[in-house]
Amino acid sequence: MAVNIESYKSIIDELASKRVQLVAVSKTKPVDDIKALYDAGQRDFGENYVQEITEKQPALPADIHWHFIGHLQSNKVKYIAPFVYLIHGVDSLKLLQEINKQAAKNNRIIDCLLQIYIAQEESKFGLDENELQEIIANLSSLANVRVTGLMGMASFSDDLSKVRSEFHNLKTIFDKLKSQELPANCQPTLLSMGMSGDYQIAIEEGSTMVRIGSLLFGARK
Ligand SMILES: *Cc1c(COP(=O)(O)O)cnc(C)c1O
Repeated sequence: MAVNIESYKSIIDELASKRVQLVAVSKTKPVDDIKALYDAGQRDFGENYVQEITEKQPALPADIHWHFIGHLQSNKVKYIAPFVYLIHGVDSLKLLQEINKQAAKNNRIIDCLLQIYIAQEESKFGLDENELQEIIANLSSLANVRVTGLMGMASFSDDLSKVRSEFHNLKTIFDKLKSQELPANCQPTLLSMGMSGDYQIAIEEGSTMVRIGSLLFGARK
């Protein structure tokens, strides 16, 4: 088993002192690894693939908070709607409408983060500021979703000043959003940014929630 409990303990100590939440990213890792981190105290886990999260969820303790952090297709929302705790990567109004519909069917409200495009890379998903405002303007009609913050991914780059400025940019958008007039189901308190390679920079730039995989579970194949 490649779970690094020592690394976990030092990371949660570091995060606790800064009041930053940890999502342990367990994609591609077996349920035994997740259980080992659960037994060490972790309750929030992040997954990228619908099939994987729906297989793992019933095999693990019911008090786990399952975060969906991958790119979510509208036609798959129904599979995670019964149990998902927070969806991090909402990048279109169409997707949010589908989440709202499936949340209503399950008689619940689903918390979502809107993913903002911050990387100077073409392959990344996310909204620009105009699209963000369009979603906010439509939110009051979506009674079964709650927007609790923003999420973003920096470029995969050795240029740390570039990574920092991308996180800084996201924090600026987050602060601007918080200061505007918002519908009741928009309560932006979470800023999900930072992964194994860049979480310390993300925290320095204002992250409140980091998504860490390989530092906890070992490298993925
Ligand atoms: C895989 C993944 C992570 C974790 O990546 P690590 O580098 O292993 O920490 C975080 N966020 C998202 C969106 C991911 O897809």
